[in-house]
Formats: sequence, structure tokens, C-alpha cells
Amino acid sequence: MANKDYYKILGVEKNASNDDIKSAYRKLAKKYHPDLNKDNPDAAEKFKEINEAYEVLGDEKKRSNYDQFGSADGPQFNGFGSGGMGGGFDFSGDFGDIFGDIFSAFGGGRTRQKTYRGEDINVSMTITLKEACLGTTKTILVNKIDRCDNCQGTGAKNGKEFSTCPDCKGAGRVRYQQNTIFGTTIREGECQTCGGTGKIIKEKCPYCNGKGYTRVQKSVQVKVPAGIDNDQILRMNGQGNSPTKQGVNGDLNIKINVLADKLLERKGNDLYIDIYVPFTTLILGGEVEVPTLEGIFNLSIKELTQSGTIMRIKGKGAKILHRETRGDLLVTLKAESPKSLDKKTKDALKDIQENLSINQYPKYKKYIDANKEVK
Ligand SMILES: [Zn+2]
Ligand SMILES: [Zn+2]
Repeated sequence: MANKDYYKILGVEKNASNDDIKSAYRKLAKKYHPDLNKDNPDAAEKFKEINEAYEVLGDEKKRSNYDQFGSADGPQFNGFGSGGMGGGFDFSGDFGDIFGDIFSAFGGGRTRQKTYRGEDINVSMTITLKEACLGTTKTILVNKIDRCDNCQGTGAKNGKEFSTCPDCKGAGRVRYQQNTIFGTTIREGECQTCGGTGKIIKEKCPYCNGKGYTRVQKSVQVKVPAGIDNDQILRMNGQGNSPTKQGVNGDLNIKINVLADKLLERKGNDLYIDIYVPFTTLILGGEVEVPTLEGIFNLSIKELTQSGTIMRIKGKGAKILHRETRGDLLVTLKAESPKSLDKKTKDALKDIQENLSINQYPKYKKYIDANKEVK
């Protein structure tokens, strides 16, 4: 519809007067009226086209938009139909103002009654494993479009420097003509000058220069729930951008990035750690200091514990999201041999080696016996 030449369709010059347009339309409408052209199948299409052209050129406001923008609806932007906002566009430019222009260019109160919603803000936040498992509260700085509190978002100084809209005399609604095939009808719609408020700004708010919103850096307190995991998104309703017209705020979406811990690894709600202990501790038993989210845990090791044994420390894992329970910490014990031996120790170990028969190592013996069969 945007690219049709309506002047050509009605057979008039671009500078034709309203009366010229009206009379051209009447003549053509009569000529191509479907009731009078039952044998001509193309007439109906032509008739439709004539009406379409007249709906635009017969209306002063639509005609002016059409002359300027090639469309009765004013400027057209790819992807933004007249249907709505709320697409995923970047709000870094002055789109709000452009939207204002589009909406004020719409004729006859259509699409006017919509709730404006500010854009969502997407940020990421890095936290430690401990903060993810046990929860935390953090303050972040967010650049956002915020409602101007000095004028309560109205754009008028102190929120009250208004005067009555001259076009609707404060009613917020106006009557306008609509030209159709059936003639001119009078309809009522929202006043375009004041957006239906009945008021226009008399003196601009100096803080926002009459816009009703400002760009600010705001600190936002974020309550990170215990048990949150990497890549999860915290949505803070209404903490995003304010719309550039009266309406509701977008959301603040915070993507969680959990730093890898030097010692503890998380899988689901459980934490895992490998701990190397002196081989003598595994043989003789003893205590091992295990790092946890909340400091050292002293783990008792029984005599003759095998290397690779996994011990479960109950309730020392991550908190389970939105619950009071916690996962566990699983400790894998690994034997570490000494880096060096003095002669005395080496001789003592040799004694031990001779004193222990292969029958005291049943797992090792199993391989030796199996190997004998192969030979
Ligand atoms: Zn008005
Ligand atoms: Zn203001």
C-alpha cells in the first residue's frame, strides 16, 4: 500500500484541491461500482483501489503523511508494524522519540490505547562458587532510562505546569471526519495533540527537558538466591528501562556467571574434591583437613583406608534452590608418596615390605594370579 500512486489512481495532479479529489473519486466510484459492472471482473479490484486512494487523499492528515512519507501512517520502519512495540530492539538510540512521532502520526485514535513498556536490560554478573551455593546480596550499577521523579514522568515542571489542550479543550477526545464510500462520517477518537490527557506542557521540567525520563546510572541491589548455577538468569521485574511515555518498566535480566573454584567442583547440588593425603595416614588412620564453603572440616580417616575411597560429608554441598536442604561434599582420598626418603626411613620401609605378604593385598594378588594363568 505504501508504494501505490494514489494521485495516479484517482487521475488528479499532486497539487489537486480537496474538491478536485472528491469529484474525481465520485466519478470513478460510479464508473467502477461492482453493481454496475457485473460483466467486468476487474471492476471490483479497481473499485477497491479507488476507495483506498480516496481514504488517504480525502483525509487531510493522511494525505500529508502520504506526501511526506509515502504512507498514510507516517514514517515506516522495517520490522515495526503499527501493531506494537516490544520487539527486541536496542534502546541505545532515541527510538522513544521516533516512536512518539509514529504514534502521533496515526490517524483516528487507532493503536493509541496501548500500554507502553520500557525495554529490558540484560547484564551479566560474576559471583564466586560460595556465593552461588550459599546465596548473597550484591549491588550492581546499571545504566538505564529512568522516569524523571522531578516531574513524575510528565515532562512538565514540578509535574503540574500544564495548560489545557487547545485542540480538545481538555476533553482528551476529538471528533474527526472519515471519508468512505458512503460519504463522510463523524467519529470520535483520542486527541492527538495531548495524547488523550487533555493537557499540554506549559513549562518544561528542567531536569529532563520535558521528556519525562532521564538516562541515569543506578545502583541496584540484587538478592542472589542460594543454589543458583552458572548461566541461570535472574529476572528483576520492573527494574529495566522506563518507557519514554507513561507506562510500565521493562525487566532487568541478570545472567549469572560462576567463577571456577580452585579446589571445589560443583555437579548439581553436590560438591566434589580430590584430597591427597600421606600414604601413612591412609594406612594408620588419622584426621584430614578438608576445605569446604564454610572453612575447614576435620575428616576422620579409619585405619587401612584404600586410596580412591570416596567419603561423603553430608549437607556441605550447595543449597538447593528455594529449599532449606543442601547437597553433600564428596571427598576422594588419594594416597601421596613422599618426594624423598632418608636412609633410615627407607630401611624401615623395606622391613615393612618384607613383613607384608602378598595375601595382605587381595586386589593386587588378584592381578598377579590372573597373570600367572596367562603365562
Ligand atoms: Zn487534546
Ligand atoms: Zn522531569
